[in-house]
Amino acid sequence: MPRLNINFDLDGVLVNYLDHLKTFLAKRGIQHIPTGNWFFDTVPEISNEKLFEYINEAMRDVAQIFPMPGAHAVLRYLHDLTGDPITIVTNRPISNIDVTVRTIDYVTGGVPYLFAMVDSAKEKPRLIRTKCFIDDRRRTAIGLAKKGYTVFMPKMEYNTPIIPQEGFSIVNKGKVHQAGVWKRTDGQIHIIKDIRCLLKSDNLALIIS
Ligand SMILES: [Mg+2]
Repeated sequence: MPRLNINFDLDGVLVNYLDHLKTFLAKRGIQHIPTGNWFFDTVPEISNEKLFEYINEAMRDVAQIFPMPGAHAVLRYLHDLTGDPITIVTNRPISNIDVTVRTIDYVTGGVPYLFAMVDSAKEKPRLIRTKCFIDDRRRTAIGLAKKGYTVFMPKMEYNTPIIPQEGFSIVNKGKVHQAGVWKRTDGQIHIIKDIRCLLKSDNLALIIS
């Protein structure tokens, strides 16, 4: 049986935290203005301290943070294929561990998982050792790719693709490939089936059709 060789980020990959945050801020009369890769301004302007307070508070609304379409199906598929638990690493603050576990329980829906919380995205590979990562934060994706990991970066509105096309950017030792579109359940499973580097028994150099 093949083994899993992939680690999932949580926010922006398995769950749509950003849309919830925007709604959360809007209810308080604050507009979210995207300015780049995971950066945004607000109108009216608020202090960083206040913003992080809101970011933390919004995470506690577990029932309002919806799974990405297809996310559960992919996790179920990968677990059925391998029998391995899904691995998830997030750099959410440790103070939110209880709501983070509830959020992960919700999206995994009974699929066994391991998870770790890290202070910095740089720590991600240290705790869960896989060769492949899925991460929506461009800086993290590029940082991991520079260290030799294969990274799948779903295209999001805040996330300038590494190549200017719809879908995933895949970075492996400087090579960039496109795989498909994350938000389509069928397409997502098709991607997972095709990308054999997700499985430890296969050759990491093989990428995409
Ligand atoms: Mg993320």
